[in-house]
Amino acid sequence: MGYTEPMQEYVTDAVVLKKNPLGDLDSRYTLFTKRFGKIVAKAKSSRKITSKLAAHLEPGTMAKVRFIETKGTQLIDALKFSALMLPHGLGDLDFLAQLLPDAEPEPALWDLLMETGRGSWAEALAILGWDPADAACAVCGAAKPPYFYIPRQEFYCRTHGMPASKARADAVLSIDARL
Ligand SMILES: [Zn+2]
Repeated sequence: MGYTEPMQEYVTDAVVLKKNPLGDLDSRYTLFTKRFGKIVAKAKSSRKITSKLAAHLEPGTMAKVRFIETKGTQLIDALKFSALMLPHGLGDLDFLAQLLPDAEPEPALWDLLMETGRGSWAEALAILGWDPADAACAVCGAAKPPYFYIPRQEFYCRTHGMPASKARADAVLSIDARL
């Protein structure tokens, strides 16, 4: 047996943004964590904890998670906060999964999300560096554009909000909507 690197283990509060099956048994979780920002972590079915994890960690759930960095990020444990399910819709959680950069703490956005029902997408976008106050429609230059198209990171006015052939509705944010 050779030398084994000590595994770094991390613990943080997290909100589950997305859960995807990985093969038949494993899962991949996209988490917005308080300490590390967005983390994508695998949960291996070979770990005893996974069946418990699977039952608890649906999108919108808040949990204290433990993960390690070994061949990618692996989720090894999660403790669900009793009855704490954020009222954000699945669509909003998916938008966050698309918008957030990997492994960059976003404390202001975390706080906004925890103040449930008080924030708007305009505030969230401003925190992430796309301030709608300074924005113009990417097509015609109109001020105060109400839409943000995530794949291109561009704003659009009402006329150009849905570039019919290209835009995916699940990637267009209405910035005045509540988060
Ligand atoms: Zn326009």
